[in-house]
Order: sequence, then C-alpha cells, then structure tokens
Amino acid sequence: MITPNMNYANLKDSYLFYNISQKVSAYQKAHPGVHICRLGIGDVSLPLCDEVIKALHEAADDQSKKESFHGYMPECGAPFLKTAVADYYRARGIDLTDDEVFISSGASDELGDILDLFDRSSSALVIEPAYPAYVDANIIAGREIIHLDSGEENGFLPEPVEKAKADIIYICSPNNPTGAVFPREKLQKWVDFANENGSVILFDAAYEAFIEDNALPHSIFELPGAKTCAIEICSLSKTAGFTGTRLGYTVIPKTLERKGMSLSGMWVRNRTTKTNGVSYIIQKGGAAVFTPEGQRQIKENIAFYKENAKIIMAALDELGIWYTGGKNAPYIWLKCPNNMGSWEFFDFLLEKAQIVGTPGEGFGACGEGYFRFSTFGSREDTEKAAQLLVELLK
Ligand code: PLP
Repeated sequence: MITPNMNYANLKDSYLFYNISQKVSAYQKAHPGVHICRLGIGDVSLPLCDEVIKALHEAADDQSKKESFHGYMPECGAPFLKTAVADYYRARGIDLTDDEVFISSGASDELGDILDLFDRSSSALVIEPAYPAYVDANIIAGREIIHLDSGEENGFLPEPVEKAKADIIYICSPNNPTGAVFPREKLQKWVDFANENGSVILFDAAYEAFIEDNALPHSIFELPGAKTCAIEICSLSKTAGFTGTRLGYTVIPKTLERKGMSLSGMWVRNRTTKTNGVSYIIQKGGAAVFTPEGQRQIKENIAFYKENAKIIMAALDELGIWYTGGKNAPYIWLKCPNNMGSWEFFDFLLEKAQIVGTPGEGFGACGEGYFRFSTFGSREDTEKAAQLLVELLK
C-alpha cells in the first residue's frame, strides 16, 4: 500500500479560524438579527481601485483579438510586470535586475513552494507569535522547527540568539499578528547573523505598503549584506486588494548562493517545472498598481484602513490598554485587559459587545493573553466596536 506523507498527521487542527467561526455562528443562532462587529478578518473590504479595473478590462479585450492574444505566459513572470516591480525597488534605491523578480500568484503559494529550495534536513526558525502557515508548511515538509518567542519586553521584535541558529529564518515585518516592524539596526543583526551562519532569511513583506515611518525598512534589501542571505516574498493582496484576484512577487538576488548553488537559478528551474505562470490579465491588473495613478489610488485605500486603525487606537488609548501595531501595519495587537486569557477575552467581547477579534494564542503559545484587531473591516463596524469597547471596559 502506498505510504502517504505521514507528516500531515503531525499538523495540529487548524482550530483558530474554525473555532472563531463556530463560536460566532452559535452566538448568531442564539441571537438572531444582532449585528456583530467583525474586527477579526484578515481579508480586505474595499474593492480593487479603478486603475486596476481599467487594466483588467483592457487585458480581457486583448485576449479577444488575434494580434493581442496571449497564451502561456513566461513562468517567472511577464517582462512588463517584472520591470514594474524592479522599478518600484529601484525608486527606493535598491539595485535589482528585472530577472531577480519572480511573479507569483500570492505570498501563501510562494511561502509554501519556496521550501523546495532547501533540503528536508534543514531546520526552520519561526519567531512567534507568527502567521500560522510558516509552521504548518514546515511540518508538512517534515522539518525541525525552532520556535523563538517574542514579547512585550522586546516589542515583539527579538534579536538573534544562539538558539536561533537555524537554516531557514522566517521574518515577517510588518508583522502579522503583532503589527511590529523591525527597525533597521535590529534587522541588520538578523542579516549579519544569517550571513555568519549560512542561513537564508525568508522575509515576508506582505504588509510593506502600510509602513509610514520613513526610518523603517520596507525591504530587507535596503540593508547591507541582505543580498547574500535573503529572499523577499511580497503580495498585492493587502497592498492593493488582490486577495481574491491573486498576485504577488518574490525577489531572489543573483548573489544568493549556498554550497555552490544559485538559489535564483534553482528557482527558475523550479518555476519552469511546476507552473505555467500567472495569467496575462491578472499581471496586467498588477502592473497598473505600479503606475503613478495606481499608486495614488491604492494609497487612498490604505489611508482608509489607517483611519480605522486610528479609531481603534484612540479607544485603546482612552482605556489605557497596552498595544503595538496599527501605525505601520494593518493589525493592532493588544494585551487582554484584567489579565484575561485570549479566548476568555474573545468570549467576553462576543457576549458583552458583539465584537469579534482574533485570540493571540492562535499565533503561538506566547500569544496567550494578547488579542489581534484587524483594521480591514468596514468603517461602521470599526466605529461601533471602538465605542462599545470604551463603554464596556471604562
Ligand atoms: N504573509 C502574511 C504575513 C499574511 O498575513 C498573509 C495573508 O494574510 C500572507 C502572507 C498571504 O498573502 P497572499 O494573499 O498573497 O497569499
């Protein structure tokens, strides 16, 4: 009999979002017609901007004519989009060639697929609290996982320590769920650490567009030495509302080599074997994000979410509740009041104020006692939730 990948048996039930939806439906069933304020969602609520919609329509029309029809696209991405992404980096002073950019159908796909570059015996470091996919993708691959806790004492931005000497190092900045962003000096320590140990950093920059503090790095490649130790994985999901449209990009510098193998060369080989590229229409929509007008429009949407963040932060400030995030990230990570546990606070908010957030414990054991609010919800829900929070906890 065939042996399936038995590592799947080691996955914990993905109980976080399942548990949340079970609890919310039970509450809704018991209280029909009651409005629930949803601050737990990781999905965007604003539609694609006009510039992207226009490009998608034009690209669909291109597909109707023999002269402009596109069949299979280059596996690593259409040249027009690779150039647009590389220009986006070059405008920030990062010197990239177009073929160091790989177009993907989103960061999730890429975070899983990229592990093909590393031997199964390599270990992976996950800084927790963390986006759950890092742990699960490595369990499926049967890798040793080193968990490094972070906490209030280091602003949820730990420095490298002896225990962190892993082959693969995940760094998510701005972070989901904590909203914390690595400042340059601290990130440099991780870059130096990875170069010294021959590790590779997988830098998840899915939320870089939310950074407003100019001193903070948007890309790991702003730091000296990163081009010999890092891969950057990005997404247009939150930047431009592509959660359902699906588009992302990955940067693998030509100078990133391990044991005489070029990781960028290996990734070309991987992509040409395992994908036939992202659709022409979607890539055209993506290229519109990088035009001056596209940038102006997506920034308007981001500003809307930032306004939601300000509304929630004002309520937390009034209540004297400790939190991080919100300013340079779409998530606010708070300490549960009155020493409540994460799930206890979840139940309390649902029962007493009909607010749904995400219990911190779902992002790793050290998230216990914390809670995540998302700023991607509607303005109405955000305002109502902020008001109810103050009434309930004052
Ligand atoms: N990385 C982080 C940290 C995320 O929070 C998410 C989605 O929520 C992703 C990656 C996945 O993004 P995508 O929609 O591009 O797959």
